[in-house]
Order: sequence, then structure tokens, then C-alpha cells
Amino acid sequence: MKIHPLICKITIFTSMNIQTQEITSPILRSKKIKLFIKRIDLIHPYVSGNKLYKLKYNFIELKKQKKNKVLTFGGAYSNHICATSFLANKNNIKSIGIIRGEQNSQLNSTLEFARKQGMDIHYISRKEYRNKHKPCFIEELKYRYGDFYLLPEGGSNILAVKGTEEIIDDDNSNYICCSIGTGGTIAGIMNASKRNQEIIGFPALKSYLDLQNNIKKWSRRSNLKLEYGYIGNGYAKISKELIKFINTFYNNYNIPLDAVYNGKMMFGIFDLVSKDYFKEGSSILAIHTGGIQGNRGFINRFGIDLPIK
Ligand SMILES: *Cc1c(COP(=O)(O)O)cnc(C)c1O
Repeated sequence: MKIHPLICKITIFTSMNIQTQEITSPILRSKKIKLFIKRIDLIHPYVSGNKLYKLKYNFIELKKQKKNKVLTFGGAYSNHICATSFLANKNNIKSIGIIRGEQNSQLNSTLEFARKQGMDIHYISRKEYRNKHKPCFIEELKYRYGDFYLLPEGGSNILAVKGTEEIIDDDNSNYICCSIGTGGTIAGIMNASKRNQEIIGFPALKSYLDLQNNIKKWSRRSNLKLEYGYIGNGYAKISKELIKFINTFYNNYNIPLDAVYNGKMMFGIFDLVSKDYFKEGSSILAIHTGGIQGNRGFINRFGIDLPIK
């Protein structure tokens, strides 16, 4: 990833050296498939994986517009909220997070981190949250908070996609796999992919009506297959089978996976391998988009065992 000088101020991002590791296992060997994992999760514990790519051109634009505040939306455990608060703080930008749902008496680990970065946290009801795209609602927020740079939910917009196009860099795998929230990341990967590559997206949300429209809006390509079979019970629901898979994967490879996105993707990849989805002799690149900070929320809420680093 090329780092823009404005973001270079953050020294941790100046020497980014992104590893791709091979995952070996008896089933991959027997099916003659090579699986690689691109560890963009290692970029930073709180500006993890795809979120730095999504924020990069947005922060450059924010500075160009000489804004000194950024406002965005997310759930209470959102990796996007976490990443935005950190990057804003490092760039001396005030951040405001509009959080879906009721306020708990105590902040969870994600929001606690965001508040420590100086983020102003504002809760709105799930009903109100649905207005997040409406101009009158944004005007109301401007009246309340003053002028700001608006980042939509998940940070997904055309500038985010420009950033996610930099995630893959002249890759020659037959398949590229990535988990999906709003679709901004997969759209960039599609745009940067080669003609003969198949992109496989693993949605993390049960029914995201906007997903297909978003992808159509942001991507010039049509080499995507969506695998809806690994969502489980939805965004923040986690099955015993998935917990077991994540912990086994961690024990075998020492790679932590988050329970919302990458755990489901990797589970899906192994399941598709067992069902002979991939051509014999082919190679797969899986993008590890990060999000490990979110595992803390599951551990604290449900007392389950998940890797945190
Ligand atoms: C936000 C996020 C995604 C989804 O990205 P979209 O661009 O919204 O599709 C995937 N993985 C992790 C870890 C994320 O935090």
C-alpha cells in the first residue's frame, strides 16, 4: 500500500510490510489446493485491516476540505468506529460517533477505546438510526455538532473503494476470498482483480438489501460470487461450531480470526474446499480484514473463549 504523506505522520503506518502466509492442512493437500492468507489484519490492532484502506482517501479529502471534525455511524462494537476514532485522534481531528442502540451503563471495550481517542459518543435508537442517510437528519446533526466531514456507516463510499483497490497488488491466485459488511471492501478488490480471477464474498449479515446495489454502484466488474451460507444467525450471533473452528484455527496456525467476519469466511473456505468447489490445482487468496478487537466484546458479553491477539 502506498502511504500518502498526510497519513505518514502516523509512524506505525510508514513501514507497512504486509505478509501473505500459506495455510497448509491435510484436506488442502488431498484436494491439491493452495490457500494463502493476506495479513492486512496486522497493520494495526485498532485500525485493523480493511479499515485503514477505507479511511485513507477519506482523510486526505477531509484535510483538503480543511475540516476539523469527522462524524460517522456504527454499531456498539464497530471496527469502523474504533479505527476512525484512532485515526482522527492521530491527525488532530475531532471525531463524533453516532452509535446504534441504547446506552449501556458502562461503555464496552470498543467504545471505551473510542472515547479514550477523544471521540464524542452519541447514542440513537435503532429506529432513528435508519435515518442515517437522510439529508434532514444530517442537517440536524450539523446543527448540533457544527460542520463536519461525513463518513457513512462502515466508512463505505467511493473514496473508500479507491482505497480498498490497493489491498491486492498484482496477485495471480485463481480465487480471492473476502468477508463482506457493506460491500466497500469487496468492490475495491473486484476492481483491482484480473480478468480470470473469481472473487468470492462471504456476507456477515443476514439480510443486507443494499449490498447488491452497493457493489453495483462501486464496482465496474461482475466476477463476484456471494456465498450467503456462512452467516450463521446474523451479524453479532455466534455458533458453538464457529467458536470451535476459530479456536482450532488459532491453535493450528497461530492466526486469530474475529467472530463477525473472518471466522465465517475461513470456515466457509474450508467447507467449500471439502465440497470440491475449487478446481484441483488452483490457488486461493483469503484477505484477513482484521477486526480482532471485536472479539473482546464477545468474550465480555458471553464469557466465550476467543483469541484476542
Ligand atoms: C468492516 C469490516 C468488514 C466489511 O467491510 P465492508 O467494506 O463494509 O464490506 C470485513 N471485515 C472486518 C474485520 C471489518 O471490520
